[in-house]
Amino acid sequence: MKNQKGLFGDESTPWEQDDAQTGLVAQVVMSTGPEQTFDYLVPDALVGEILPGRRVYVPLGRSNRRVMAYCVAVERKEYGTRKLKYVLSALDQQTLLSSQMLKMTQWMAEYYLASWGQVLDAVIPAAVRGNAGTREVTLLSVPREVAVRIATIKLPEKQLHVLTTLAASSKPMTPGDLADKCRCTQAPITGLRKKKLVTSEVRRVSHAHFDDLDIEREPSKTLNEVQTAALKTILAQVDAPQPKPILLHGVTGSGKTEVYIQAIQHVIDQGKQAIVLVPEISLTPQTKQRFASRFDRIAVLHSHMSDVERHWQWKRIASGIVNVVVGARSAVFAPTPQLGMIILDEEHDSSFKQDSVPRYHAREVAAKRAEYEKIPLILGTATPSLETYYRAQQGEYELISMPHRIGNRPLPAVRTVDMRYDKTTSFRGAISRQLYHSMKRTLEQDGQIILLLNRRGHSTHIQCPACGHLVECPHCEIPLTHHITDGSTVCHYCDYRSSAPRVCPVPTCRYSGIRFSGIGTQKLEQEVKSKFGSYPIIRMDSDTMKKPGSHEAALERFRNREVKILVGTQMIAKGLDFPNVTLVGVINADTALHFPDVRAGERTFQLITQVAGRTGRGDLGGEVLVQTLSPDHPAIEAATRHDYALFAERELPFRRDFQMTPFAHMVRIIARGPTQPAVELFMQQVSEELARFAQEQGGDISQQGPAPAPIEKLRGNYRYHLLLHSFDRLLMRAAVLRVREKVVVPDDVLWIADVDPIDMM
Ligand code: ADP
Ligand code: ZN
Repeated sequence: MKNQKGLFGDESTPWEQDDAQTGLVAQVVMSTGPEQTFDYLVPDALVGEILPGRRVYVPLGRSNRRVMAYCVAVERKEYGTRKLKYVLSALDQQTLLSSQMLKMTQWMAEYYLASWGQVLDAVIPAAVRGNAGTREVTLLSVPREVAVRIATIKLPEKQLHVLTTLAASSKPMTPGDLADKCRCTQAPITGLRKKKLVTSEVRRVSHAHFDDLDIEREPSKTLNEVQTAALKTILAQVDAPQPKPILLHGVTGSGKTEVYIQAIQHVIDQGKQAIVLVPEISLTPQTKQRFASRFDRIAVLHSHMSDVERHWQWKRIASGIVNVVVGARSAVFAPTPQLGMIILDEEHDSSFKQDSVPRYHAREVAAKRAEYEKIPLILGTATPSLETYYRAQQGEYELISMPHRIGNRPLPAVRTVDMRYDKTTSFRGAISRQLYHSMKRTLEQDGQIILLLNRRGHSTHIQCPACGHLVECPHCEIPLTHHITDGSTVCHYCDYRSSAPRVCPVPTCRYSGIRFSGIGTQKLEQEVKSKFGSYPIIRMDSDTMKKPGSHEAALERFRNREVKILVGTQMIAKGLDFPNVTLVGVINADTALHFPDVRAGERTFQLITQVAGRTGRGDLGGEVLVQTLSPDHPAIEAATRHDYALFAERELPFRRDFQMTPFAHMVRIIARGPTQPAVELFMQQVSEELARFAQEQGGDISQQGPAPAPIEKLRGNYRYHLLLHSFDRLLMRAAVLRVREKVVVPDDVLWIADVDPIDMM
């Protein structure tokens, strides 16, 4: 009794118990409007239909407006003297969320400071909520008590014919089908329905169907010693009562995927399902093929699926017929009925973090889901995020190391090219002398080359040498990039486009020698063509890869060696496995290095390591050249030595000293609005409120900023941010809630709190 009161916040006191009422109470949350949960009574007629994990309609407010809500609990309980309203109706005939999933969404709401309803909206795809690809049909049948006395019923001839036809049918029929079969109009059917000799029921049916992938089977490989040991560690966790997450730290090409596959097989053999999460960019046909060639009944979820297909896949997964779900971030919410394992490949990848509400990280959500479902989570990567690595060091996660490539192939030799000195020579352009010679040699030996440059476009910098004017986006104050393909200048943040200026746009200047400098992939492509014109080249960036299927087509041309040189942005840095690639060139390793971001070094280390992993995968060996202006930077140096431990050893103490992730929790508060002083003033007030809060609590919580965000202006909005740090997550949460409660937000200012921020721009 006492416990119940604590749990439900029931305010009735013992001496009021005489008036206490008991009933079947549904607890609901709304996706818009008030954030708290509400209690409603379940009317007798709806018992069994109103269940946790389904949507319902309830009356809200004084006007009893009908609103949609998610039912999150149903319980017979005492509700004191409160006047509860009744649930109006059920919206779903099927349960959308299991109890573990409900618990997980509740955790997400709490952790990411979102409303539970918003989280539920994100977890259940709009396509599912909207029943995409289905329609409602009326289905007629003859009730049993009518069917048994059919011979004794007196009816007009047509009606009798319809009634006996329907009674003889093994399945309910639609009025249309029934009329067709009986060659009659709707009139006799309507007559029978009026006499209640035929009952009707409205059901949703799907009219969609998608074919399964038809892919050639491949036998499984015999695991080597290290893989076998890894699998054993994983299976021990599968059988553990409360499994620990596992960090599978293996260099590129160490055979991690093969280990996943065999672990999944084990889970399927137990009649359970597995979810494999990969970065969106890695959802290539190659990845699909690897899983589809081993398992029956896989579902691949990607971002450009139609609503109809998404809903169809969701239902297949929910029905339990899908064994393996492969997908990006949001596939962590796949409604598998008996989940046995979650695998998150390339665990360090920043695309696992969602940049809209709720701003969740799939890795953290997966860890929670795994905890509630009591299943193992496997985090695989060659370059663990420091968050995961630290947890493994602390023993929170199990650690498996796979430090060698399959077949003991050596990791490629990585050399830096110091671009500071190259500038003094007459050698101009993006490709240094060393890289040029390596490319030449590689091509002569019939090898293939990957060149990475993380800037798309042609010139990244358009400036007037006479007056110094830099051509910027009018909405973002970011330098515009020149794209030669259509002669436009483009803002890479908001996609603002204008034609490239021929003269300086400043009216008082108009100098005709305006300069286009800085190198993007288009310019790099031109340079490669001018130097190695006889070798076929292909460029892959988001400009050339717009059309569906272009990605696959380009990679196919590279795979079959028709194309010798692949130039691209980070979209080519991951996952590709081409044994004939013997040279990788990183054109500018410093692009991410000097960002005002705690992870600048970590990102640089990851990028170099990942792209280096694209070579030396065959018997031919491989070589990596990294062009940089900071060859002595610890992250670059560690990457050239393939030494993750060294990188972590240097980076972690720094993170600890500055109270940063993974030691402390961080929340980034960002505000934006069309007028700069309003945003600045608002953030000042936020900051003061936070300082007051910190002082009152006497707790450890500190702030950096407020300051203009690195991207000060975006799409016409001025942006300010501040970073909160604390070792006490709940204290920091309370601080943000306090700001929400106390600080008045001007009409034209919007602000958000990003928990565990990844994007610091
Ligand atoms: P990772 O996922 O760690 O990058 P993969 O699983 O892709 O590594 O393995 C790298 C290459 O080695 C792949 O071509 C894969 O088919 C092959 N491979 C993996 N395990 C074995 C094995 N036990 N025997 C032979 N080849 C293997
Ligand atoms: Zn812009």
